Amino acid sequence: MAVEIIKVDAKSIFTKTKTPNAKYVVNQYIGCEHGCVYCYAKFMCRWRDYGKWGSWVEAKMNAPELARKYVTGKVVMSSISDPYQPVEKELQLTRRILQDMDKRTELSILTKSNLRLRDVDLLKEFNKIEVGLTINNFEGKMKELFEPHSPNNEERINSLKNLKKDGIKTFAFISPVIPELIDINILISKSRDFVNYYIVEMMNINAAGKEFRKLLKKNYPKSYEILIDKDMFEEFMDVTKNVLIESGVSVPQFVTHYPKFEVVDLCAK
Ligand code: SF4
Repeated sequence: MAVEIIKVDAKSIFTKTKTPNAKYVVNQYIGCEHGCVYCYAKFMCRWRDYGKWGSWVEAKMNAPELARKYVTGKVVMSSISDPYQPVEKELQLTRRILQDMDKRTELSILTKSNLRLRDVDLLKEFNKIEVGLTINNFEGKMKELFEPHSPNNEERINSLKNLKKDGIKTFAFISPVIPELIDINILISKSRDFVNYYIVEMMNINAAGKEFRKLLKKNYPKSYEILIDKDMFEEFMDVTKNVLIESGVSVPQFVTHYPKFEVVDLCAK
């Protein structure tokens, strides 16, 4: 798929956020070539008239200079894009930000790509850094339907393994958790040796959008039924929480969007 790259200059790059446990987000890219159908960030299409989510990326070309400003508090990279999506190979905005950023910055990077391996030398220079990989069980038909352009799950788990080997603090972001389709036990058994902790996020069926809801209803009707039924969904959430608690892994953030937005620390249970 041809992706339109729109190069712009931004006024600032550190944006205050309500993301749990973070003070700022940095988005050197807006838009994402991975084009996951359920992506919650596609709401950005309301303010960017460039076309369908996944078909365009806005690149803030002056982001590295703007990122030189030192800020205190946790900085999350990125919230409405993937910092290591394919265009990064050519533009290198993420790499240049890492080069220019004050190494005292408390930085948390989230990606689905193993391109971040390229930057291990720079990651190691930070005093306080963590890198997370989103993992899920989407394979075969499910992967084609939901995440056609992102690296596969095995590559992401390998990325965690390599980061750990390089001495970088890691976390796995298990998302989106969809009833019947995500097997938490399998994901934990494949990744627990390579991560310091997990963030687990239940599917946000509203933010995932109409196209995703239609796709899910048609191909996985049982999952859809559970997601839209409050009682069934709450029961599914309780079962998921218990699986996580019994597994013994650290889950400081269990995120739900329905019936209300909530972030629960399962380590405290
Ligand atoms: S990789 Fe992340 S930001 Fe990119 S489309 Fe997928 S969910 Fe959205």
